Amino acid sequence: MQQEVIIVGGGMVGLSLALMLAKQNIAVKLLEAIKYPNYDDVNLAPYHSSFDARNTALSRRSVHIYQDLSLWETLQPYATPIYEVNITEQGGFGKARLLAQQEKVESFGQVIENAWLGRVLLTEVRKNPLIELIDGVQVTHLSQDDSRVTIKAEQGEQAIALQANLLIAADGRDSFCRQALGIGADVHDYDQVAIVTTVQTSKPHGHVGFERFSPLGPLALLPLPGEYRRSVVWPVKKGTEHEWLGSENDQHFLDALQQTYGDRAGKFEKTGQRFSYPLSQVLAHKQAVGRVVLMGNAAHTIHPVAGQGFNLCLRDAHVLVRYLVEQRDQQADLGDPNMLLAYEAARLKDQKRVITFCDSVVKGFSNQNPLLKFARNTGLLAFDLIPGIKPLVASYAMGLKA
Ligand SMILES: Cc1cc2nc3c(=O)[nH]c(=O)nc-3n(C[C@H](O)[C@H](O)[C@H](O)COP(=O)(O)OP(=O)(O)OC[C@H]3O[C@@H](n4cnc5c(N)ncnc54)[C@H](O)[C@@H]3O)c2cc1C
Repeated sequence: MQQEVIIVGGGMVGLSLALMLAKQNIAVKLLEAIKYPNYDDVNLAPYHSSFDARNTALSRRSVHIYQDLSLWETLQPYATPIYEVNITEQGGFGKARLLAQQEKVESFGQVIENAWLGRVLLTEVRKNPLIELIDGVQVTHLSQDDSRVTIKAEQGEQAIALQANLLIAADGRDSFCRQALGIGADVHDYDQVAIVTTVQTSKPHGHVGFERFSPLGPLALLPLPGEYRRSVVWPVKKGTEHEWLGSENDQHFLDALQQTYGDRAGKFEKTGQRFSYPLSQVLAHKQAVGRVVLMGNAAHTIHPVAGQGFNLCLRDAHVLVRYLVEQRDQQADLGDPNMLLAYEAARLKDQKRVITFCDSVVKGFSNQNPLLKFARNTGLLAFDLIPGIKPLVASYAMGLKA
């Protein structure tokens, strides 16, 4: 008997999960609020809330997931590997340096342009006969009983009603589905917005990623395809973003980067348009209720400081697919509430580790007290000198240890 699976939310997580399920011959309906653009031309995808100006540092594990989906060859032209990571603090003496060669791995991961990743995922979803994509449709009602989940949605003037054995809610940080189920969430506003853009520097990036903690906020500079292009993610205090956005502030922004980084990247020559993203941590109290499971940002939205959010979501999705394949092979119910609870329990350890790590990095480096700063820099030095720590941290960051 054909079992119905619905995914609500076609962001990067919903699209990736739909492809993972289809690869296992599990058919799925994917509902997305935004009307996707058509790609009749060779240009990159126009702006979409999920396929945006950002770049994503994909861990090695995430790259493996896309290799398994036979997508990596198409993604690769807009991705670039990271061979080295440098962590420093402005005005501090400590420095930690991680080298892929030393850790005996080909790279720490790949930085990919979201616009390209989104476009490739969407094109694959559209081609896949096991995925029914319904876009431009807003889910407005969700209820469930012992045997079915029912949703209602609006597509323009039209009302749609659908039922499923399993509903996967990948509808983002402010998840409608989470709220409709009455699932609470711990919300922590970091009082920061991330300023995101692409810059050009006079020195080639050499595939080095920098994380530099500065009084303005932790600044990440990652290599991009093209020797001199780098991705910038700079979380700054909420309310100060007007200082950095807009073409009239281009030079001011480049000067601030130069001052914060010194000449490690050479001269900051050009900047693209800057975009801002408010930053908060949102952790759902439960991820599985009855026949509904939360995925992606709907389950946990975290600070982008270490580029772990999407990687964590992909690992969740990968494990959920494993549970669903097992159910299917045993001809069991794909929406079995106990199976979904078992999935949630299996994911908690990895999720807690990543969430705690990212949150403590943000909080640990935001205090400018000189004593704390000294302790932090001693920590960075120790990290650089004590044998055995680096391989462990590197393998966590690459998503190889979960
Ligand atoms: C500045 C920044 C940089 C980042 N960098 C990295 C990085 O380098 N590495 C990394 O691993 N992670 C990174 N992340 C995290 C990553 O971006 C997120 O984890 C990821 O985008 C989550 O995707 P999602 O599909 O769960 O959510 P979303 O992208 O929010 O998608 C949710 C989708 O659901 C749809 N939707 C919502 N409500 C409804 C409804 N009622 N009906 C139908 N559809 C609905 C929305 O339209 C949307 O398309 C970064 C985050 C930020 C803010």
